[in-house]
Amino acid sequence: MNVLVINCGSSSLKFQLINSESEEVLAKGLCERIGIDGSLTYQPTGGEKVKSEKAMPTHTEAIQFVIDALTDANTGVVKDLKEIGAVGHRVVHGGEKFAKSVVITDEVLKAIEECNDLAPLHNPANLIGINACQKLMPGTPMVAVFDTAFHQTMPAKAYMYGLPYEYYDKYKVRRYGFHGTSHSFVSKRAAELIGKSYDAVKTVVCHLGNGASICAVENGKSVDTSMGLTPLEGLVMGTRSGDIDPAILEFIAKKEDLDIAGLMNMLNKKSGVFGLSNNLSSDFRDLETAAAEGNKIAEMTLDVFCYRVAKYVGSYVAAMNGVDVIAFTAGIGENAGPVREKVMEYLGYLGIEVDKEANDSHGKEVKISTPDSKVEVFVIPTNEELAIARETVALV
Ligand code: ADP
Repeated sequence: MNVLVINCGSSSLKFQLINSESEEVLAKGLCERIGIDGSLTYQPTGGEKVKSEKAMPTHTEAIQFVIDALTDANTGVVKDLKEIGAVGHRVVHGGEKFAKSVVITDEVLKAIEECNDLAPLHNPANLIGINACQKLMPGTPMVAVFDTAFHQTMPAKAYMYGLPYEYYDKYKVRRYGFHGTSHSFVSKRAAELIGKSYDAVKTVVCHLGNGASICAVENGKSVDTSMGLTPLEGLVMGTRSGDIDPAILEFIAKKEDLDIAGLMNMLNKKSGVFGLSNNLSSDFRDLETAAAEGNKIAEMTLDVFCYRVAKYVGSYVAAMNGVDVIAFTAGIGENAGPVREKVMEYLGYLGIEVDKEANDSHGKEVKISTPDSKVEVFVIPTNEELAIARETVALV
C-alpha cells in the first residue's frame, strides 16, 4: 500500500509518499508560505527536485497541488488517487486522550481539537491539514500519529510537577513529552541492534536536533522524557532555553520591561545555543567551526549543551537503575561526532568507551562504543515519516 505522510504546520506542509511493502519513499516535498503566496518543492525518488511558485491561499490548495504533483503524467509516481491507500498525519499533542495512534473519525477530530489549548501553535494547523485532506480524498482512511502518545506510559512520579494539584485536575498541567515517534522508532531499532527483546531492554535515546529531547525507555515503554507540558523544557536547544530557574522570568520581565508574550518569545526564539553564543548561530556546524577557530563563547556554548545532555542521560540511568544501550539521533545526534564524544566521556563512569574511528562517521547507523564498553552506544538515524507510515498501515 502507498501511504501519504503529512506533517502540517501553520504555513507549511511536508509530505512523503511511502510504499509500505518496500518501505521506499516514492516522492517527497514541501509546500511553503501557505496563506501568504505559496511554493511547492517536489521530488520524485531518482528524479529532479523542482520548486514552483503557486498561489496557496489555504491548505486545501496546497494539498491539491501535492496530489496533482504525485499523479502528474510526467513527474508523478502514481496513476491516480486510488493508488494512495491511506494518509498518516503527524499530530503534535494528543494530551491524555491518546496513548496510541488512531484512525481519524469525527469523534477523534473533536478530541484533538480539545487538546488545542495544550499546543496552540501546532494542533490547529494539524487539524487544518486533516480537514483539507478529507475534503480532497474522501473515502481514503486517515490516521493520526501523535508526538506525545509514546510517553503516555510514564508513571505519575515522572509526569507530575511540584505545582498545586488543582492545576493538573483542572487543566491537565503535567509532563507530556514530544518526539515520541522518533524515540519509539529509535529505541526499537536499538533493541534489534543489541539482539535483545524490546520488552527486556533499558535504553536512553538522545534525539538531538534543533528541537532536542532525551527519553528513558524501559522494557519498550517511555518512563521519562525531558520535554514537558510543552517542547520548551529540558535540554538547551537551537533557540529554546530548556530548564531554567522559573524565578528568572520575573527578574528579566522587570529589568527588560517584558510581558508574558515577550518572555515566551525570548525563551522559544532567542535562547538556547543561539542566545547563549551571543546570537552567533543556532546551527552546530557554525558553533563547531567558531570554537575550532578559538571563539571562547562558542566553546562554552557547546560545553553547556553537552553537559546538559550528559546530566539528563545520567539521571535516566538512575531512573531505570541501569542502562543497556544509548542511542544518538536527529541532526546533531547523527552528525556531530565531537558532541557525542564529549557526552560519552562524561559517562565514562558507566564503563562507556568511545570507538573514535567509528564516531567520526556522519548520518549513518553505526556502533560508536568499543567492544569492551560496558554499555553499547549507537548512532541510529531517525525516520519519523517511515514510523508514521508503519503505524498507519498497522491501523488500516
Ligand atoms: P529539527 O528536525 O528539530 O529541525 P534536525 O534534526 O534536522 O532538526 O537537526 C538540525 C540541526 O542539526 C542543525 O541545526 C544543526 O545544528 C545540526 N546539524 C546538521 N548537520 C550537522 C553536521 N554535519 N554537524 C553538526 N551539526 C549538524
